[in-house]
Amino acid sequence: MAKTKVYKNWSLHEDENKILWVALNVANEEVNVLNFAVLQELETIVADIKANPNNTSGVVFISDKAPDFIVGADVKEIAAVNDVNDAVSHMRKTQTLFSQIEALPIPVVAAINGFCLGGGTELALACHYRLASDEKHTQIGLPEVKIGIHPGFGGSVRAIRLLGVFQGIGLVLEGRNVDALQAKKLGLVDDVMPLRELRRAAVYYIQHKPKVKKNSWMNKVTEIPFVRNLLGALFKKKLATKVKSEQYPAPYALIDNWVNVGTLEEKAFAAEAESVGTLLSTPTCRNLLRVFFLQGKLKATGKEADFKVRHIHIVGAGVMGGDIAAWCAVHGLRVTLQDPSLQALGSAVSRTYELAKKRLKKKHLIQAAVDRLCPDPSGDGIAHAELILEAAVENLALKHEIFKQIDARARPDAIFATNTSSLRLADIASVLTQPQRLVGIHFFNPVAYMPLVEVVKGKHTDKTTIAYAAAFVKQIKKLPLPVEDAPGFLVNQIIGGYFAEGFKALAAGESIQVIDAAGHCLGLPMGPLELADQVGLDVCLAVSKNLIGDDAKTAQAVLQGKVDKGELGRKTQKGFYNYVKGKRVRAKTALDPEKLTVLERQFFLGMLNRALLCLDEAVVNSVDLVDAGVVFGAGFPPFQGGILQYARTMDKQNLAKELACYRSMNVQAVEATSAWKLLW
Ligand code: NAD
Repeated sequence: MAKTKVYKNWSLHEDENKILWVALNVANEEVNVLNFAVLQELETIVADIKANPNNTSGVVFISDKAPDFIVGADVKEIAAVNDVNDAVSHMRKTQTLFSQIEALPIPVVAAINGFCLGGGTELALACHYRLASDEKHTQIGLPEVKIGIHPGFGGSVRAIRLLGVFQGIGLVLEGRNVDALQAKKLGLVDDVMPLRELRRAAVYYIQHKPKVKKNSWMNKVTEIPFVRNLLGALFKKKLATKVKSEQYPAPYALIDNWVNVGTLEEKAFAAEAESVGTLLSTPTCRNLLRVFFLQGKLKATGKEADFKVRHIHIVGAGVMGGDIAAWCAVHGLRVTLQDPSLQALGSAVSRTYELAKKRLKKKHLIQAAVDRLCPDPSGDGIAHAELILEAAVENLALKHEIFKQIDARARPDAIFATNTSSLRLADIASVLTQPQRLVGIHFFNPVAYMPLVEVVKGKHTDKTTIAYAAAFVKQIKKLPLPVEDAPGFLVNQIIGGYFAEGFKALAAGESIQVIDAAGHCLGLPMGPLELADQVGLDVCLAVSKNLIGDDAKTAQAVLQGKVDKGELGRKTQKGFYNYVKGKRVRAKTALDPEKLTVLERQFFLGMLNRALLCLDEAVVNSVDLVDAGVVFGAGFPPFQGGILQYARTMDKQNLAKELACYRSMNVQAVEATSAWKLLW
């Protein structure tokens, strides 16, 4: 194949069939992004093709940068926007460019392998055909709502045109990615094939020009203004059950655009760009961008060491150990799992099967994941694993016994880790011959849903062990947050403030429903009592005992009562709530809005007070890391950008007064002076 032209980011090759292969390999970037320079070059390329269409039999867009196609627009450029008009005119220009591609008189194919997201999908939608490899990492989507906007290069208009309003708007509203087979089912791609056949299939499509799907009668009916109005109201009603418009305006704006102008006429593109322009300046967008970059920061900490775990040995197959084992097996690691309870081991195997079924879908992949998990009651795996993670009951004496065994049997280069929530690493490490080998790898519950894992540096932990632990966390597709060894580390200390306020309200006679509803008002996914049931009331009790303080005393009394009755939360089907087959029994209660507001503020102050203390005590070393911890580890609402970012939006003097009042009523609370200064 002759190389005809090379740009900084694109290269053009014309083959013997006169097919032009337009390949992207963005300079100085790890992944392909559609930044200003890339789009500018694409303009020149498209203008050349337009000028001489007869020279070419077809065009194929492809990636020259493995493993992905195009991961989207450049988020750094989006975050740097300070003139909305400039942003709108950039989007309009790109829309025109994509419309020119769509209008080319020769067939145009997007040959997709790997991630094809955001702007990448918008470019693919402007092509006449989309073909996708069936590789596991091929994922297609329009995830812009996750950064507080919706597609602005014509993607929302074309997605609805192609898929119809129900599927099209759904794809954009949810911002979810679909794999190649799901994309084919939706009609988002025309065909799916093994990667080795992708180029050949592109040639076939150009030479045979299969019929392009025309707008169905259903699409035409749903575009009638009266129908748009009716459907728009329904979409909004459904959306309101998930997110509020004042918190997440982008999905609502998308529905409004469609109701107002539909997708059939040119004005739909203008409305799309204008709408993104407006969204770019909302606090939600700025905060979601902040969260996006915080995520990048955490990912980067996992890149510091070149370390891969092939075999992990886990001690303890309870709520956490069992789920961590399942997660690791699904992510390709060989897992030996040790527990004296055969029932716990059996339950871990069935949870692995369930997780694999959900995540891996294909029978042979599910079977392989289950086969990677080996129940190992006698702990033979200790001698072979590169990483040994202890997740047994929260009891120092027991953990000492376990680590003595590990110390005697492990490989000399193995790393030791504990999932403890509240014990000091230095205390656990006291029985080890090389305490520098012990690191905290602290997962959150439920493991499959919580993206954060704290990587805890004990007094003796060496740097390499920390870097290896962070690399392992990244390897299993979680976000590592480096923290110092303080009681409760970062996230549990902050959540401790939430629990303490919840238990205090309960002891003061407030109803469970009102307490949890106030947590939801703050935007947290679970109220404090729901969360306690999820974690396990025995675990909460053990943790609160280790985090002794006056804040914890009320909690301990409440929890002790429950534990004595054997009511341990979700795992025993009874805790603060009752559960039937794992589902919570819900009772309707009238909620007093005033009470909710007061409680919500107490929860916020309880958490903020602890967050400031963590910063003051250097559990983490920046405002950013505190916010990353609460968003990814505690589910603090991303649209607020984190608890400290949220605090920054408030009146400084008033907040200082409120905090002072809070401290005067809570013996344990002290003033965090240097953190306060960092905040402002
Ligand atoms: P769990 O009670 O559900 O499970 C503990 C398991 O340890 C049980 O299966 C038990 O049989 C097993 N065990 C007891 N003695 C053992 C031994 N000698 N060797 C091996 N296994 C033994 O507890 P969990 O909730 O899974 O918590 C485990 C650890 O993870 C604790 O340190 C806890 O603080 C921490 N943690 C818990 C949560 C949570 O939400 N539950 C979250 C993060 C961290």
